[in-house]
Amino acid sequence: MEWFSTVVTGPRTDFGFEQIPLGVKAGRVRDVFDSVAGRYDVMNDLMSGGLHRAWKDAIVNWLRPRADMRLLDLAGGTGDIAFRFLRAGGGSVVVTDINLEMLLVGRDRARKRRIDGAINWLCADGEQLPVPDNSVEVVTCAFGVRNMTDKAGALSEIYRVLKPGGRFMCLEFSRLVLPGLEDIYNKFSFAIVPRLGRIVANDEASYRYLAESIRTFPDQETFAEMISDAGLSNITYKNLTGGVAAMHSAWRI
Ligand code: SAM
Repeated sequence: MEWFSTVVTGPRTDFGFEQIPLGVKAGRVRDVFDSVAGRYDVMNDLMSGGLHRAWKDAIVNWLRPRADMRLLDLAGGTGDIAFRFLRAGGGSVVVTDINLEMLLVGRDRARKRRIDGAINWLCADGEQLPVPDNSVEVVTCAFGVRNMTDKAGALSEIYRVLKPGGRFMCLEFSRLVLPGLEDIYNKFSFAIVPRLGRIVANDEASYRYLAESIRTFPDQETFAEMISDAGLSNITYKNLTGGVAAMHSAWRI
């Protein structure tokens, strides 16, 4: 008897705890958000007990929107950052995301709030933005970089599109800095979140990916170094909820 096996060679990357061929990741991530788009907002509230709202408020408050400010919200999904930016006095937003389903949910939400005139929705890959060099004043990205295949490449794209003097602000899950929380946090994210995903979004695997992708994402300092390697300067960060999430701010000078 002969045994045959398929050996997939070439560069690989993480998809949660799995190692998969590089070229496959974007499609897998797209499947995740296609699957959850309709239940994405309700799941965020359930999983975080509403905390994601406070974190998003915090990053927009740190940004201090002005009426003459135009924002590019990268991986903007269903529009949470865009809505807060406009509510806080920002001028206009381009929300860009690789996933059309997420953007369509966002556009409907904006229409219901009657703020769709101030938002443009652009379906594009954050690793290859169809945006000119040196053209954007502020880029935000909330819970998006973690899902990208080439994180360093995405950060370089952000540097490329920012004007000199422009600012990048990122909100992401990060590393706990409060001792003693690990056990409960691990139990919550690996046992409860996927179960909630199954019950509410009919998709356990996507929410297991979420928990795993958080663990494989760089910690606060390492991520600050990656931002620096992309060419951005004056990098600072603030922890949220004991490091469950963190927000980074950086400038193109
Ligand atoms: N920013 C929104 C928020 O905070 O609610 C959505 C965050 S959601 C966890 C991650 C988003 O990243 C999804 O909408 C997904 O489609 C998007 N995404 C993943 N990979 C991307 C890529 N390469 N380029 C642009 N968006 C991407």
